[in-house]
Amino acid sequence: MDIRTLTEKSPVIADMKEQKEVIWINPDKTDFASACVGAELSMKDIDDAEARLARFAPFIQKCFPETADRGGIIESVLTPIPEMQKLLNKKYGSGLSGRLLLKQDSHLAIAGSVKARGGIYEVLKHTEDLAFENGLLSEGDDYGKLASPEMRGFFSRYKIQVGSTGNLGMSIGIMSAAIGFTVIVHMSADARQWKKDLLRSRGVTVVEYESDYSEAVKNGRRLSDEDPMSYFVDDENSRNLFLGYAVAAKRLAGQLAEQNVAVDAEHPMFVYIPCGVGGAPGGITFGLKHVFGDAVHCFFVEPVNAPCMLLGMASGMNSAIAVQDIGLSGATHADGLAVGRPSGFVGGVMKKHLSGELTVKDAKLYDYMRDLLEAEDIFLEPSACACFQGPIRLMASPEGRAYVKENGLEGKLDQASHIAWATGGSLVPEEIREEYKHTYLD
Ligand SMILES: *Cc1c(COP(=O)(O)O)cnc(C)c1O
Repeated sequence: MDIRTLTEKSPVIADMKEQKEVIWINPDKTDFASACVGAELSMKDIDDAEARLARFAPFIQKCFPETADRGGIIESVLTPIPEMQKLLNKKYGSGLSGRLLLKQDSHLAIAGSVKARGGIYEVLKHTEDLAFENGLLSEGDDYGKLASPEMRGFFSRYKIQVGSTGNLGMSIGIMSAAIGFTVIVHMSADARQWKKDLLRSRGVTVVEYESDYSEAVKNGRRLSDEDPMSYFVDDENSRNLFLGYAVAAKRLAGQLAEQNVAVDAEHPMFVYIPCGVGGAPGGITFGLKHVFGDAVHCFFVEPVNAPCMLLGMASGMNSAIAVQDIGLSGATHADGLAVGRPSGFVGGVMKKHLSGELTVKDAKLYDYMRDLLEAEDIFLEPSACACFQGPIRLMASPEGRAYVKENGLEGKLDQASHIAWATGGSLVPEEIREEYKHTYLD
């Protein structure tokens, strides 16, 4: 499709091409029940993933003592951030009523990012499959036995490979090394040096590429396919990754209940999640819709230079279009979000579930990072701060107000909750944090 046809299909693409910040409401969204008709995955699959993570908890607790306080369950806290809410309303005129909370996947144990959900789940699923096939384990066993030298010896014959811009490689790499797998992470040119160093320190082989993410993925997949003992983690199509992320929703329901935050027809919940290839925000959204149905409204946020999911959804072309096709570079300061082409699988699932998308300029990510430090003394990596574009811009925009009206939410906003999904940050080394704090872009 040429650019004129694209912008006729969806006018927002003209602004995206100019690297403007945009707000897009998904015209294809339906009610939850209709969206589920004919779906490949369901609540049963999410329950199955949650049960698998529970089986592995004794093993995780053994290998990663920092998970002991949750009994080997890797979960993050949900933190009310009223001071940030005040700051946003004052500084940006956000007009945000109700309450603002931060889901701190930035502080998830082991990998320090949202990837600790999908990436780790996928490695564990593959581990269980291999162990079952070889008669080394059955469902009723204490999975703590996977930490024995014999088991590690068995898994060391197998290889796991993945292409990554950073955080996915960290979660896959660290967990694979803990099981005993030989791990190779194929990293694109934009991956940060400290992430490569950290992985190498855990015994992970890091292969570096001059080119971008898709090249790293392509080569990693080829090398893995040539080796019968190797398993490739496919960030673009993996159902396992997706389901690992989806489990977050069930855990969140418990945390909201503990904090007496109601989510129902009278108490809408808005959720804002940074998006790269789409697996993490897509999986989380899929889970949230299954738990909260029509009461939850999910929005993705992408950088203005790499809005791949928005381009795929707004054009209707899904993964058949890349941001480079409309003249964008795909390059951004937002680690993990520098993706030019979205997951076709996730785009298909989100078509009827997602409420909309926002884009954000790189410069704002550093501002929001400093805002959160000032207001709440919480550090996030810049890419994770993309989540704040949602609460800052949505309610203050004509598009957002129209959405509220069309969904019958006027009059309910004072009892609404807004969740900014903080996707990464706790592993960022001190000297890099200092650098970020003093980064100002145009
Ligand atoms: C990977 C990542 C995301 C987005 O996840 P995708 O599955 O690529 O969409 C968001 N934030 C951070 C910090 C990430 O590392």
